[in-house]
Amino acid sequence: MKQRVVILGAGESGTGAALLAKVKGFDVFVSDQGAIKEKYKNELIEHQIEFEEGIHSEQKIVTADLIIKSPGIPDKAGIVKKLQSKGIEIIDELELAFRYISGKVIAVTGTNGKTTTTLLTYHLMKSAGLNVALAGNVGESLARKIAFEKHDWYVVEVSSFQLDGLKMFRPHIGILLNITPDHLDRYEYQMQNYINSKFRLIQAMQQDDHFIYFSDDAVIQREIVKRNILPEISRVSLTDRSASAHFDGRVMIFDLDHELFSIYQQNTTLRGPHNLINTMAAVTAVYTAGVSMDSIKSGLKTFKNAPHRLESVGMINGVEFVNDSKATNVDSVVYALGSYAGPLIWIAGGIDKGNDYSIILEEVKKKVRVLICLGKDNSKLRDAFDGVVKIIIETQSIDELVRLALKASETGDVVLLSPACASFDLFKNYEDRGDQFRNAVQELKNENELISQ
Ligand code: ADP
Repeated sequence: MKQRVVILGAGESGTGAALLAKVKGFDVFVSDQGAIKEKYKNELIEHQIEFEEGIHSEQKIVTADLIIKSPGIPDKAGIVKKLQSKGIEIIDELELAFRYISGKVIAVTGTNGKTTTTLLTYHLMKSAGLNVALAGNVGESLARKIAFEKHDWYVVEVSSFQLDGLKMFRPHIGILLNITPDHLDRYEYQMQNYINSKFRLIQAMQQDDHFIYFSDDAVIQREIVKRNILPEISRVSLTDRSASAHFDGRVMIFDLDHELFSIYQQNTTLRGPHNLINTMAAVTAVYTAGVSMDSIKSGLKTFKNAPHRLESVGMINGVEFVNDSKATNVDSVVYALGSYAGPLIWIAGGIDKGNDYSIILEEVKKKVRVLICLGKDNSKLRDAFDGVVKIIIETQSIDELVRLALKASETGDVVLLSPACASFDLFKNYEDRGDQFRNAVQELKNENELISQ
């Protein structure tokens, strides 16, 4: 009889897992307690995969030989506890995918910077002419990629929720960018549980694998010394000259395989101190995978990051407009402010998730000439920056916002949308906020060009 695989959750990873399991000849059943998106439902129907939505029918689930759990479902969910008590094996989509993979994996994790580093790594591999696929949290699931295509390399963004379900998953190259408290509700409010989850990245790695990590991160440092780590280690640092990739205050220096290389950030398309870390990690990984430094250097000049992350969206009268709508907390704004010398017209506001603005007061005082508040309730922002920034303006309209910003700026200024807040008061999500900003800048630019003709 066919082995029965039951998949809990039918998002991108659940559907990808279902497709792979089907291709591999299992009897597959998909169960989602919520509604399944139309496009995934259509795929399941097309591949004749049985599914249910709005319910987890216990009798159909407990008959499984193997359960694939979507990363969004926590271990403490009732159905998971039940399955555990019955001794049914529960794994993650990545783990299933890994059982059928033939190429090598570069896996990227960390609290922040995953998407940028994953996309950059993929771009550098691809532009070197390698047969490489992009998968994981960014884009399509690894299982889906493996079900229908064969690649030599897979660059995979891995969230900590996905790491929780890993056992044999063994990347050839693993990157750990940083560990700061996040999602602690999922880890019984124990930081160590969250750290353990991140370190699952390397648990199956062997001596001939490579582990790249950011060694200025105090949490990672502390953890490293406690563990017996098998893979070869490469450290990335903004301060420590003994690290195999470090920034000396001027240039990124790589000491890889007894060869020395240097790269100026000006010769890359990324800006800001956080992107020095991401670039050094990606370059180390790609060089380790066998790509030449010449190819890497030319790839760094053509990389286009995902939108809404310090994305330059237009230049009007010598004023650059930057969309950093993804910056929904103050930590992200620290990096955004650190990426520019000033003067800045800073746009912030929205739904504050408990921000402590004191950590950016100094930087704001030094660099920001005008603060434009874009939110329904801007009182906390106003209170925090009253007397720190000379001019504070409020608006709730994106069209008015870009006009106000242009009016307030002088040639050479940067208009920076880096809100420090969630967007739900005025927008659908941070993407919607960033898209509307980009469009409004484009329109204003067109108008200005017409006038000057
Ligand atoms: P993720 O996919 O982990 O959310 P992104 O690459 O989308 O990460 O970046 C999200 C935000 O995180 C960026 O806008 C920036 O503010 C911040 N960030 C990016 N890289 C780093 C890093 N290496 N360290 C700390 N913060 C970072």
